Amino acid sequence: MPNLSFVSPTRNSPWGTYLSQIDAVEPYLGHLARWVETLRRPKRALIVDVPIELDNGTIAHFEGYRVQHSLTRGPGKGGVRYHPDVTLEEVMALSAWMTIKNAAVNLPYGGAKGGIRLDPKTLSKKELEKVTRRYTSEIGIIIGPQQDIPAPDVNTNGQIMAWMMDTYSMNTGATATGVVTGKPIPLGGSLGRVAATGRGVFVIGREAMRRLNIQMEGARIAVQGFGNVGSIAAKLFAANGARIVAVQDHTGTILNEKGFDMQNLLDHVAQTGGVAGFKGGDAIANADFWKVKSDVLVPAALEGQITAERAQGLQTRLVLEGANGPTTPDGDQVLSDRGIVVVPDVIANSGGVTVSYFEWVQDFSSFFWTEDEINVRLDKIITGAFKHIWETSEQHRINLRTAAFVVACTRVLEAREERGLYP
Ligand code: GLU
Repeated sequence: MPNLSFVSPTRNSPWGTYLSQIDAVEPYLGHLARWVETLRRPKRALIVDVPIELDNGTIAHFEGYRVQHSLTRGPGKGGVRYHPDVTLEEVMALSAWMTIKNAAVNLPYGGAKGGIRLDPKTLSKKELEKVTRRYTSEIGIIIGPQQDIPAPDVNTNGQIMAWMMDTYSMNTGATATGVVTGKPIPLGGSLGRVAATGRGVFVIGREAMRRLNIQMEGARIAVQGFGNVGSIAAKLFAANGARIVAVQDHTGTILNEKGFDMQNLLDHVAQTGGVAGFKGGDAIANADFWKVKSDVLVPAALEGQITAERAQGLQTRLVLEGANGPTTPDGDQVLSDRGIVVVPDVIANSGGVTVSYFEWVQDFSSFFWTEDEINVRLDKIITGAFKHIWETSEQHRINLRTAAFVVACTRVLEAREERGLYP
């Protein structure tokens, strides 16, 4: 592991996970391996203090980050996460995975990510707005429509993007719709963006199931995380004939061998804030989620969920990574030994940033597409990327994750070599 003084990764921590993925790809990079070290360190990492006055009059300080892992192929691109466990190390890993994801799908971007270490549930709407505006002002020195374009991630949404866009625009004196994506439609948002990550998970799942001869009709799907990604992917799988047999979120775990009635489940979650207490299934222990028999398992929550121990017990054929970094290196090794196919995050959840790219292009051209046009183009781009990665994995006899890294790192490092080292 290279010795960066500002983080202390371990083998299965987020940055440690990313580094082991880079180690795995290195032998397949040919002469470009000379440049691989550039991928093992972020180009730029900004840490900011975000002070706000709370509703009760006290001053609170939050820690914020924006990391630009790579700007080699274009501006930085990647979401902003609000979570009490956010750290510099985590944001570094998430920014690096954006570099790989954007290159794997061939979007003209580098990779970036941001985050604030806070629990948004403990803040009022006004406090959340203050935090968002102050954070945007602080990172305003490195973001911009041509520099680095944030977007939603865990616990952030269109409202937060609207505040970010407004703050950046007020500070620069001109309305800059292209500074963030995932905006509300009246501010230059794109149709289809809210559903895009979940839709992409479904589309890539459908393609992987075809390759593995898993019938969609009646397929058993287990989903961890029932936010924007997990719930929309589950809805699309169910609408196409699959059965959602288990769902886990921060409130609990539910099981129904016959498959949940999705509309009832979505209504229940909208009313109560989580899957716990849903009458259309049985509550099971959280630990038992990892032993549910399924054809496809969709981790769509946070990093580090599929550990070696959980991977040992999994009864599934296909892991479809809706979350970023849900499988640890030790978990990956066990899955590979057990012959369970993993479709990595950098392709499985690439639908979100792909439609972010469409939004950015529409903002620049001031010409907006229909939802059908968005969905058709999304399908075409990500299925094409998946096919290329699948064929790369067959060609080198490597797993899909390493194949995705071969495709992506080759693109990044070719650009790096062409640009040359400055000065
Ligand atoms: N947060 C999403 C991701 O992890 C989307 C990023 C974006 O649209 O820029 O891919």
